[in-house]
Amino acid sequence: MASVCCAGLPKMKCRYCLCNDSRVIDSRPTEDGTAIRRRRECTNCGRRFTTYEKIEEIPLIVVKRDGTREPFDSNKILIGVRKACEKRPVSAAEMDILVDDVIRELFNSLDQEVTTIKIGELVMSRLKNLDEVAYVRFASVYRSFKDINTFMEELKLLLGEQNAE
Ligand SMILES: [Zn+2]
Repeated sequence: MASVCCAGLPKMKCRYCLCNDSRVIDSRPTEDGTAIRRRRECTNCGRRFTTYEKIEEIPLIVVKRDGTREPFDSNKILIGVRKACEKRPVSAAEMDILVDDVIRELFNSLDQEVTTIKIGELVMSRLKNLDEVAYVRFASVYRSFKDINTFMEELKLLLGEQNAE
């Protein structure tokens, strides 16, 4: 497996001068979607080469609210979703599908970094369709409502949307 540099992107050796440092010029998924094709330029000799990285080997870095970074961990999403769905009529399979869906969207975006806020929004948009109580619970944790008023506003918004349907 490729070694990972501090930016979260696997380092690829230049195939010409064997230098370990390259700049990514272009990234796009392969047609079957299982790998990312990257055009790179060696920072040492300036030559360009292409690398293929399997999707599941690409590290995703999560940027937390305080600016610190940590490796992406899908378990954390699942734990949050489970907590929100406690005693709600949401099956374990539905939760798994939701989390898988969020993961797929994150990796499809091809970004190497993602904020916890973005992850929270992806989860919330799906929870909303699954179970409203779970959604509000999750939102209250994720948006860390400062007080009961902001919480009530969110609730009102949600109820308003329901009435509009
Ligand atoms: Zn080189």
